[in-house]
Amino acid sequence: MSQSYDAVIIGSGHNALITAAYLSRAGWSVIVLEQNDRPGGLLRTEELIPGFVHDVYAAAHPLFVTSPAFAELGAELAANGLEYINTDVPTGVSLLDGRTAVFSRTAEATITELDRLANGDGAAFAAMLAELDPFVDDVFGLFNRELASPESQKTIANLMRNGRFAALLFQSPRMQVERFKSPEARAMLAPWAIHLGHTIDEPGGGIWVPLAVLALMAGGMAIPAGGSERLASALVAIVEDNGGTIRVGTAATRIVVKNGRAVAVRTPDEEIPVGNAVVASVNPDQLYLNLLSEAGIDPLLREQASHFRYGRGCVQISLALSEPPRWPDERFRGVGQPHLSSGLDNCALACAHGAAGLLPVDPTFTVDCATDRDPSRAPPGKAVMRLQVIEVPTSPRGDAGGEISVAGEWTDSVKERFAERILSIVGRHIPNIPDAVIGMHVVSPRDLAAFNPNLGPGDPYGGAHDLAQSYMLSPLPGHPSHQSVVPNVYTVGASTWPGHGVNGRSGYIVAQALLGKTRSRTARSSAVRVQRTRRRSAGQHDAKRP
Ligand SMILES: Cc1cc2nc3c(=O)[nH]c(=O)nc-3n(C[C@H](O)[C@H](O)[C@H](O)COP(=O)(O)OP(=O)(O)OC[C@H]3O[C@@H](n4cnc5c(N)ncnc54)[C@H](O)[C@@H]3O)c2cc1C
Repeated sequence: MSQSYDAVIIGSGHNALITAAYLSRAGWSVIVLEQNDRPGGLLRTEELIPGFVHDVYAAAHPLFVTSPAFAELGAELAANGLEYINTDVPTGVSLLDGRTAVFSRTAEATITELDRLANGDGAAFAAMLAELDPFVDDVFGLFNRELASPESQKTIANLMRNGRFAALLFQSPRMQVERFKSPEARAMLAPWAIHLGHTIDEPGGGIWVPLAVLALMAGGMAIPAGGSERLASALVAIVEDNGGTIRVGTAATRIVVKNGRAVAVRTPDEEIPVGNAVVASVNPDQLYLNLLSEAGIDPLLREQASHFRYGRGCVQISLALSEPPRWPDERFRGVGQPHLSSGLDNCALACAHGAAGLLPVDPTFTVDCATDRDPSRAPPGKAVMRLQVIEVPTSPRGDAGGEISVAGEWTDSVKERFAERILSIVGRHIPNIPDAVIGMHVVSPRDLAAFNPNLGPGDPYGGAHDLAQSYMLSPLPGHPSHQSVVPNVYTVGASTWPGHGVNGRSGYIVAQALLGKTRSRTARSSAVRVQRTRRRSAGQHDAKRP
């Protein structure tokens, strides 16, 4: 008979680790099961090219450094090796014709910059922030709460009764930035809505432009010294110091349900008894079609789960450089994550190409150079660079440029040819690229799909985040909460409110619910009995390869 745990946690993305950290600190016995070879999910730092340290997936944590989990766990995370390095200039844009703009963490500096580009754009920026201002506290408060809770429902009803807020909510990103005269301002701000899962002309995407602006002002473009995985290892240390167990190389295959409650989690080797709760960092398709496939789930909910939708894919290129990038605009040495762009319309076209299954010919994408702030990641005088292209299809059926031969898949050759296209665009903005490139590693949607089942066919954001799959419709209309229809099974992670990104918020919300600090509407019926039994177990990762 396997050891029983108060909480069995499926998956070890940062949200799952945050829940595990809170529960183990509160005295719960906790085990985290991770199918991959080490914990952290998309927080993974590797020497992809010998001597050069890259973040293979997520790199920047501006959303996490403003989270309640960081506020509460920050000192322990720091004691376990997590140190953030930040910048006062989180983003900017370089246009093909050489024009540039930078965005600062203070409104005053950005207003001055925007007025330099077009007189009056500074005032337009101030107006954008002022429009959202009456609603900011409510909206940012909701990011840290269960949307299905009575308190949140009241806040949402009040917000939606206000016509000015409702209008903001349904705008597109283009509508938000049309107020600016300069193409630089438009191309600098609107693409951040794409990082939040939207497209330039999508209703519902507009509000995410000022929200992203506020998030960047608050969080800058923080990166962990030494790499993104430092957050995962610091969280793991908290879990293990408090007696929790992290077991890698172990996929959860079933959640065993008896009398309407989860009683065990099955792996290929054993059945682990559950005392209080299962927390699954999985999408609803995996949850209802696989993990709970023997739990008698309502067929209508299974039907919804089978229609859970994924969004566009991502190509991420990691470069080793013989020297730092020589930006024509010197200010870019200090910019956290600028976009390279041919302007707002081309960005919109690239999104449309991706949605139509075509490789975009002229995407707008980010460039970041971690060695500008963290020289430890490359040998002296050398540099690393990350290019992130998020307008690509997960299953390409053609090339908008008519140059790359494509037949439905991200084959190695499609990946290489597309990376060449991206590098040639970079070279038009930064003259010493591609000559300075001495090593390259490319991740395609196919690679993402192989690494993490939560990315479906290769969607970096773990599911579409359009209006039809957001807010109270996420992750599913029939499961509009972190609590699933099996009352002691909870979900965290990118497909759950408040969505993707290294923000740690779903992990925090579920920890609060389990520790009785908040209660969701559906949670009332669950009567989870918290047995605060502190069982210290040996704290090593249990490497069990299937
Ligand atoms: C290429 C790329 C770049 C990105 N860059 C950024 C960035 O710079 N900044 C940012 O904020 N966001 C970025 N994102 C998004 C961000 O990484 C994710 O939204 C976030 O990390 C998701 O965290 P999570 O808690 O949902 O768990 P994940 O990181 O998705 O981890 C889930 C884990 O669960 C495991 N798992 C799933 N099912 C099972 C099972 N049945 N049994 C055992 N284990 C299981 C998986 O193997 C995985 O390790 C990026 C994403 C990608 C793909």
